[in-house]
Amino acid sequence: MPATADFRSDTVTRPTPEMRRAMAEAEVGDDVFGEDPTVNQLEARAAEILGKEAALFVPSGTMGNQTAIKAHTQPGQEIICDDRSHVILYEMGMPALFSGCLIRGVPTTDGILSWPDVAARLRHATDHFQGSGLVVLENTHNMAGGTAYPLSSIEEIAEKSHAAGIKVHMDGARLFNAAEAMGYSVSDAVAPVDSVCVCLSKGLGAPVGSVLAGTAEFIAGSRRIRKALGGGMRQAGVIAAAARIALEDGPGQLSKSHADAQYLAAAIREADGVELVSDVQTNILFFRVSAAGVSAASVAEGLKQRGVLVIAMGDRIRVLTHRDVDRADCERAVAALRECLKA
Ligand SMILES: *Cc1c(COP(=O)(O)O)cnc(C)c1O
Repeated sequence: MPATADFRSDTVTRPTPEMRRAMAEAEVGDDVFGEDPTVNQLEARAAEILGKEAALFVPSGTMGNQTAIKAHTQPGQEIICDDRSHVILYEMGMPALFSGCLIRGVPTTDGILSWPDVAARLRHATDHFQGSGLVVLENTHNMAGGTAYPLSSIEEIAEKSHAAGIKVHMDGARLFNAAEAMGYSVSDAVAPVDSVCVCLSKGLGAPVGSVLAGTAEFIAGSRRIRKALGGGMRQAGVIAAAARIALEDGPGQLSKSHADAQYLAAAIREADGVELVSDVQTNILFFRVSAAGVSAASVAEGLKQRGVLVIAMGDRIRVLTHRDVDRADCERAVAALRECLKA
């Protein structure tokens, strides 16, 4: 356990002793030849849990999302998504760079698209424009504060987009957090969409890796795109072994980190000069400190000096709870925040 309490992201978790053991003992082969049994088992199990025909192990969520975008679109087409989506803000411009697509970003308060948001931007190819190629739903939504899609919204957007001939991809980096908060199964949440990318390396606790899932045909195409991106990983069973444990045991740990986030949210609601940006649904909180007359950056620095790591983003501070912080760390964070605000 590190000496600091690290709330910067749920990606900071370290592999557990059980994961380290599984990595050391993993049976491996060359996954580019399809011969790594540990990777093959992980992909089969991920497909089963997600209720899709097939799945593909990828090194990162970015590679999974951008592989899906490439597989579903043609250059010149438009992608409809929330305007603070990870796929456009934090994936190095890859929709343009790799797939040659344009973005139709939808401004929302909570990161959750509705069918009218999508319908207003859907365009069919004509002699004047290429039209829409894909709708992307981010569940949970990172920059909106870990907000989750209601099942009915996913179903309506997918059904009506499909009726218009448009595919739907879910950036489910934190899909299991959404399922935990909303009380639906991950397979029900992704049944309506064509593809989903889930990070195993966030709240679920794997050191590395994400899975992309969809039809067998989509995954066969995605396998070639992954290779083009340099994602053919050879004896990847050593990381797939840890990822498998994360996939099996990680979901059961999320309720604890969601409760920790609620504990922090309650403390922030009570404190003077700080303001939660939105309700907390899962493991992500954003709050402002401007009413205390201090900058987010100076509060983040003050917390750091007290052994509590967070990220300042403009006038907001982002905090994530995860497997490697516990309630005592949360109590320490609250005490440190009170000290910073007083100082
Ligand atoms: C973390 C994240 C990803 C993928 O990020 P990688 O660092 O490439 O694994 C994708 N979408 C969202 C919403 C994320 O939070």
